[in-house]
Amino acid sequence: MPLVAGNWKMYGLRRAAGEVEALTRHLSGAHGCAVAICPPATLLAALADRFRDSGIIWGGQDCDVEPEGAHTGDISAEMLADAGARTVIVGHSERRRDHHETDALVRAKARAAHRAGLSAIVCLGETEAERDSGRTLAVVGRQLAESLPEGAGAANTVVAYEPVWAIGTGRTPTLEQIGEVHAHLRAALAERLADGAGMRILYGGSVKPANAADIFAVPDVDGGLIGGASLKAGDFWAIISAYGTNR
Ligand code: PEP
Repeated sequence: MPLVAGNWKMYGLRRAAGEVEALTRHLSGAHGCAVAICPPATLLAALADRFRDSGIIWGGQDCDVEPEGAHTGDISAEMLADAGARTVIVGHSERRRDHHETDALVRAKARAAHRAGLSAIVCLGETEAERDSGRTLAVVGRQLAESLPEGAGAANTVVAYEPVWAIGTGRTPTLEQIGEVHAHLRAALAERLADGAGMRILYGGSVKPANAADIFAVPDVDGGLIGGASLKAGDFWAIISAYGTNR
């Protein structure tokens, strides 16, 4: 089943529970994909508790590599699991950029997620300069090879292709460009992992209600990682229900 995951980033106060409440009214009916929300860590436990029976998969946006320790301000994968998370985003480009996260660190974080029983949503994607210089496939191929830990498989890992220049900008690659990268990632996964053909590859970067159905219909796109448009229940539901229009 495809997965549509919302990344709330550093947005959301306690009143955001109202958006989840509105979303759950839609989710009580049929929909064609699994749904995850990765709220700020401050909201995770309260939302996961209150909406325990909603079917929503709760997730973190990052985790430390250690289970516990003297790391002020950091949150371990075990803490996320304890708060009700079942998944965690690692290697988002905003963390790679703002916190200088390397592929090796992302790999260690994905391993930490697995240790805690969480699935890891491993993000990768090229910058605009890398695309303009024709290096997109080489860059995402390297990120994939170096960011997945030993033991990664379809049951515990999701790959999210997010072109850096498309995140939060309103710009998206063409459907052909998305298809080219996803096919490249699929081939690399199938070659490296026994079950790589079945690993979900999400697309992320300015997915909106207006373009979701077209993007989700691209071969090897198994769902989306949605930033800004996941904050409002109406927009997020419109994206989720795009799976009703092409399946
Ligand atoms: C993201 O944060 O992962 C993302 C894809 O953001 P947006 O949908 O706002 O471009």
